[in-house]
Amino acid sequence: MGEKLFNLFSDNPTLITHCPVCNVRYNPLEARVLEEGESAHLVYIKCRQCQSAILALIIANNSGISSMGLITDLSSDDVLKFKSDNAISCDDVIEVHQLLNKEKVLIEYFD
Ligand SMILES: [Zn+2]
Repeated sequence: MGEKLFNLFSDNPTLITHCPVCNVRYNPLEARVLEEGESAHLVYIKCRQCQSAILALIIANNSGISSMGLITDLSSDDVLKFKSDNAISCDDVIEVHQLLNKEKVLIEYFD
C-alpha cells in the first residue's frame, strides 16, 4: 500500500515535501495513506519536529499531479471517522476540495 504515493513524494517537487509550519523535510514514510483511489490519495502527515498534522489531498489528472493540504487538529483516526470505507470517488474528491476551501487555511504547494 502507498508505494506509488511514496514515489510521487520523492519524484515530484511540487508535492508536499516540507512541513509548512517549521519547514522540516518530511520523511515520506511518515505519511499515512487514509484513502487511496484511482486518481486521488488522501494522506495524513504528522511532523516529527513540531507535531503539526497535515491533511493532504494528492490528485493525479490529465495535467499532472497536484496536491493541496491543510493544517489540522484532527488525528488520523478522527479523519477516518468522517470517511466511509469505500475507495475515493469523484464525489469524495469534490467534498474534500470544498472542505479545504471552507477551512480557509488552505496551503497551496504549486509554484
Ligand atoms: Zn513541523
